[in-house]
Amino acid sequence: MKYAVVDGRRQEAFPKGRGTCPMCSGATIARCGQFVVHHWAHDALASCDRWAERETPWHRQWKNRFPEAWQEVASFDDVLTECHIADVKTPSGLVLEFQRSTILPTEVDARERFYKRMVWIIDGSRNEFDAINFNNMRSHPNSAGLVKFQWFSRSKLFHRWHRTVPVFVDFGSAYGFWRILHFDPLTSVGLAGLVDVDGFVSLASGGTDFSANGGPATPLPIRTA
Ligand SMILES: [Zn+2]
Repeated sequence: MKYAVVDGRRQEAFPKGRGTCPMCSGATIARCGQFVVHHWAHDALASCDRWAERETPWHRQWKNRFPEAWQEVASFDDVLTECHIADVKTPSGLVLEFQRSTILPTEVDARERFYKRMVWIIDGSRNEFDAINFNNMRSHPNSAGLVKFQWFSRSKLFHRWHRTVPVFVDFGSAYGFWRILHFDPLTSVGLAGLVDVDGFVSLASGGTDFSANGGPATPLPIRTA
């Protein structure tokens, strides 16, 4: 976690810091090692949020593009009687989940049920060949920034993230990241759109939830693009 409660307010980890978890009020210890992103860890063995993922600089960089108050927002679902911490939740209620590790489809389903209005932003640089392969297997962007691609790689990146909620893949390129508009798991043919980071942050902050075009598994509308 980036934040714990210290002296009654949310604070980032500092050396030898001790605080409490904003969600379960359990004791947390600051981890400020040389080789890890400074963070708070639960004193007890397990985090209260079973969906918690170890934070990387990639997670932190994404979270920091949004106001502090929108980062690590605890949500409680009365029906599911579960509580989880969203990476970013905008005032309009859109949840952004920044995902680096591979998680089971059942857990992906569970998070989508829990958050309802959400988008996935996947770290595409986890497998070093995915970015290279994607750039080799896609067309040149057209005037709208759209590309077609055919995924011949053994990597299951696009099969794994074949969802009906919006999915974005960040390969770590300076020129932007990609929204996967459509993917056919049988032919491995897909359609993606180049997204500018600042533009995305501005749209998400302004209340856009990106749901109009659905996710990679949503049937494509008939269009000429
Ligand atoms: Zn906790």
